[in-house]
Amino acid sequence: MHKRVKVCIRVRPASKDHAGIVINEQDKAISVLNEPNGNGTRFRFDDVMGSHVTQEQVYQRAAMEATESVLHGYNGTVMAYGQTGAGKTFTMSGGKTSFSDRGICARSIAMLFAAIKSDAEHSYCVRVSYIEIYNEALYDLLDFSENQQRELVVQENDKGQTSVKGLSRPVVETEEAALDLLFQGETNRTIAEHCLNNASTRSHCIFSLHIEKRAHDDSKSPVVSSKLNLVDLAGSERMKKTQVTGAMLKETMHINKSLTFLEQVVIALGDQKRDHIPYRQTTLTNLLKDSLGGNCRTLLIACVWPDESQNDQTIATLKFATRMMRV
Ligand code: ADP
Ligand code: MG
Repeated sequence: MHKRVKVCIRVRPASKDHAGIVINEQDKAISVLNEPNGNGTRFRFDDVMGSHVTQEQVYQRAAMEATESVLHGYNGTVMAYGQTGAGKTFTMSGGKTSFSDRGICARSIAMLFAAIKSDAEHSYCVRVSYIEIYNEALYDLLDFSENQQRELVVQENDKGQTSVKGLSRPVVETEEAALDLLFQGETNRTIAEHCLNNASTRSHCIFSLHIEKRAHDDSKSPVVSSKLNLVDLAGSERMKKTQVTGAMLKETMHINKSLTFLEQVVIALGDQKRDHIPYRQTTLTNLLKDSLGGNCRTLLIACVWPDESQNDQTIATLKFATRMMRV
């Protein structure tokens, strides 16, 4: 049984520019106005969240289901997609100023530990990891040692399961401990960003909660393992190869390739006749191999910047999001 990717659109507040889109939340529809008096192109999704929708509501409407299913032993993935500036990091990590601006990562942690606390029948072990993928190379954002720019490698066991050799996966006993690591990882991300010239828009970041659950009074009962991946994808704006050179060209090619194969994998998973899924083509899909398709809950939040000047990117984002909904 394959569950298709659930696709929600989130629209950030507009700048002072004219809005280039019209939202109909009731119809879960969004129209991009292509020219004055034009009808525009209309798209429909599982949910469309306008700029008035709060962080709490985004969590409730979109992401909560994935967190809940992880408690029941299924893997889940929540991905934020969209052009740079469209609100991916705000959605996943949140704003820095107020508590109510917390993003999906902090809210998932809170909900997970609340559920664990209220479950008297099971015992749990929770671990966290935080990875950055830049130019196909993997970095450990929870490695606070001096060699933190060390590259990690993905390995595969004989059952075809992938893991990352040497990745930190500390056990966290409390919500506070998990939040603390999330924030430290985010600080590492910011430091790397300065070194690599604002690389965060050109890298994918994956914060994962790994859960082991077993019945309390029975040490012989099987351990159920599951994980939730919270992914802040690289900016989806595609630069023309002719406009960039050198390091930028390399970055652009890596981003294009990984987002294209993410789409290819999702499409292949939805096609009953396909038995080859091209996970191995990129680091991102290789890492998410056990967390896409099948019984996994997969959610894509496509972030949109509603200014008219951004319409080309908005259309590209909505088209990508539409293709990801294909059953
Ligand atoms: P991205 O990660 O996609 O490049 P950001 O999340 O960094 O984009 O968002 C760009 C800016 O817009 C940030 O200053 C962020 O705080 C702000 N922003 C994005 N979405 C929202 C929102 N829904 N409400 C308020 N501010 C937002
Ligand atoms: Mg960002």
